[in-house]
Amino acid sequence: MEITTKPHAAILSSPGMGHLIPVVQLGKRLVDYHGFLVTIFIVASNESSDQSQLLQLHTYKNSLEIVEFPAIDITNLVEPDAKFVTRLAVVMREAVPALRSAISTMKCPPSVLIVDLFGTEALCLAEEFKISKYVYVATNARFLSFSLHVPTLHELIKGEFVDQKEPLKIPGCKPVRPEDVVDPMLDRSNQQYCENLRICKQLPLGDGILLNTWQDLEAQALVSIQNVQVYPIGPVVRPVKPDGLKGEMLCWLDKQPTESVLYVSFGSGGTMSVKQITELAFGLEQSQQRFIWVIRNPVENHSDASFFSTGKEHDDDPPSKYLPDGFLTRTKELGFIVPNWAPQVEILSHRSVGGFMTHCGWNSAMESIVNGAPMIAWPLYAEQRMNATLLTEELGVAVRSEVLPTKAVVGRLEIEKMVRMIMEDKQGKGPRERVKELQYRAKNALCEGGSSYNALANAIKNCCNK
Ligand code: UDP
Repeated sequence: MEITTKPHAAILSSPGMGHLIPVVQLGKRLVDYHGFLVTIFIVASNESSDQSQLLQLHTYKNSLEIVEFPAIDITNLVEPDAKFVTRLAVVMREAVPALRSAISTMKCPPSVLIVDLFGTEALCLAEEFKISKYVYVATNARFLSFSLHVPTLHELIKGEFVDQKEPLKIPGCKPVRPEDVVDPMLDRSNQQYCENLRICKQLPLGDGILLNTWQDLEAQALVSIQNVQVYPIGPVVRPVKPDGLKGEMLCWLDKQPTESVLYVSFGSGGTMSVKQITELAFGLEQSQQRFIWVIRNPVENHSDASFFSTGKEHDDDPPSKYLPDGFLTRTKELGFIVPNWAPQVEILSHRSVGGFMTHCGWNSAMESIVNGAPMIAWPLYAEQRMNATLLTEELGVAVRSEVLPTKAVVGRLEIEKMVRMIMEDKQGKGPRERVKELQYRAKNALCEGGSSYNALANAIKNCCNK
């Protein structure tokens, strides 16, 4: 990387594509629009896949470099059945010395340290090196507002959150339904509850919080956040790669009518039981709508196993082995199956895609809005139930089932109904129109002089003036 007088940002990313993708995009934005040098530190764990290879990026325009710390083996540091947030928190804690040593030997010392949601324990390094410090929460303001209120809820609420009879009140924000509470808060006796509480307490310790939302998407929730400087800089999404769609998939998509295809995908790690895959397959077939389905091998008891799923821990059976008999033949013309991983942004931006059945990971939700695709919300883990409620009830860009997919199997008839609704029925007209409006507003927020462009510029001004 070049050595210049440019400001230099060191960004720490936690493992997992859903965390790394928005960090890399933030880095690129700092390079492209704000003249920064950027070093991104990726913390790999022995459980995560080869992320940098997946991103196929090590340097960008000679101004952004990705440094991958060697994998951290946490087997002896956590219980064998430790939950996702515990494992992630331990990996990030173990990475702090490596980050300290990397920063201290940099030829061009950083002027700001940015950490993601799981990296708040590294904020102390910014104090040691006397540089600015920001937390990048790559999700929405409603989630942040809730998280900042978690330490108070922890004191106020007796018993488990999920057993509360009334929605949880959040100052200035819509209350959160107990069943929507984020996974790590569901069991107070689990270590991941303590780790999550610690993170929520540490969030305000930076000079500000960068958020992947934009001002007029969540005006009310943003106003509700009082005691910390928040910079809504979103939507931060990966741009479309010109050659990202190729071969058979591109040919198939090119042949379909405009906005006729439903894209079905559940994030970087979402998995389902055999029973649910079967219902989904019949629901898609009965809807008679076109679809592209990114499918992973079924995993029983999927709700937690799914989050850190890299494909390594599952068998790699061909879809024909677990899909219903004859499904692939019967849907040959109607559907296109992609095992494990697909070029999501490129698919969503193709003119023939007109809807997205999604697990409501925030990157996926933003990518859907930016491409004007209304959603069928199918939340699986983490904060996705809160996101699903936001997308359906507040933003009006999605429909969802009454059944929570992590609690029970969603049946084929209901799936058929939701698919028809979002793709063609009158009832889906609202979400279809609303998402186009948000697509337009997102574009405005990002352009020079727009609210998100200005928010990032302000964050930079504040950190450089420190
Ligand atoms: N993604 C992709 N192809 C896939 C699955 C996921 O490109 O087959 C990308 C997707 O575009 C998004 C990210 O991986 O940028 C997933 O992030 P999200 O927040 O939606 O969900 P997570 O995987 O973190 O639960």
